[in-house]
Amino acid sequence: MFGLKPDLCSVPMPETHYGVDDYAKSTARWCPGCGGHSILSSVQKICKEKQYVPEKTVFVSGIGCSSRFPHYMGTYGFHGLHGRAFPVASGIKFRRPDLNVFVITGDGDCCSIGAGHWVHAVRYNMKMVVLLFDNSIYGLTKKQTSPTSAIGTVSNTHPKGSVLPPINPIQTTLGISNASFVAQTTDWNPAHMYATIRKAADHPGFAFVRIVQRCPIFMKDLYADKAADPDSVILLSHENGINLDPAIAKTFKRVIEHDPSDIHKAREYAELRDGIPVGLFYQNTENPCYDDYGAHNLGMTVAEKTQALEELLDKYMN
Ligand code: SF4
Repeated sequence: MFGLKPDLCSVPMPETHYGVDDYAKSTARWCPGCGGHSILSSVQKICKEKQYVPEKTVFVSGIGCSSRFPHYMGTYGFHGLHGRAFPVASGIKFRRPDLNVFVITGDGDCCSIGAGHWVHAVRYNMKMVVLLFDNSIYGLTKKQTSPTSAIGTVSNTHPKGSVLPPINPIQTTLGISNASFVAQTTDWNPAHMYATIRKAADHPGFAFVRIVQRCPIFMKDLYADKAADPDSVILLSHENGINLDPAIAKTFKRVIEHDPSDIHKAREYAELRDGIPVGLFYQNTENPCYDDYGAHNLGMTVAEKTQALEELLDKYMN
């Protein structure tokens, strides 16, 4: 009104910057020593580094110890039904592609009751980060055999030891059509876990990360010695793989050079049994993403949608 240019009148506002605390909510109620704690810290750090807007970020889970995760994040969350995290997350991403979507699932939630949804979610390849907390046991319900329990695992359902060979989640995911990002890490190497989830967050499709997780309550002996033994893991290393700090990379004694575009080698390394292979098994950024096909009518008004629906009905009524 006084002839000043608008930019001279405006008061500059400080840019919003989110700290780690903005992604934290209540205190995690996992047992002391549970691998979930370090996974939570890594994810909160990544949210801060990516400066994800908390109101534009959603964590979806099913049922299990891992699935308490959304309660501990200062973002939106959906703690749903057992095995149903994938369809919920797919629905959210389909209608709100602007949101950052994470799925938190466990070995029972994903590989047993949710297995059908897991297969199709991989195939749909919608942009989301999937963290499989795999402790090889049902912990929340106090020790039942899970689909990833090794033969001989003594549990309440198999007091004489489980008898069936376990599912290999990496091998299974690699075998599903349209798989585009498959990685593995362990909760006891926070630097590698952080770098792996960070890479997954940058992937333009369905990024599946299996985290070998300790459950000191019900599977005390499974990984206790491995976590203390640097020889127990095998690092898959490549310039297109997980971006590790050279100082951290040097701490791995066993290293295999693996190009993550080679799915045949990825399948071979997924079968390694004399150590836990960690790193990026496979990545393909060119695979079709189903969210791209769902976004075409997002801008339609209610009136336009009603009209389109009526035109469609007319087509079949006449
Ligand atoms: Fe973690 Fe096991 Fe405790 Fe569950 S029972 S919170 S997986 S340590």
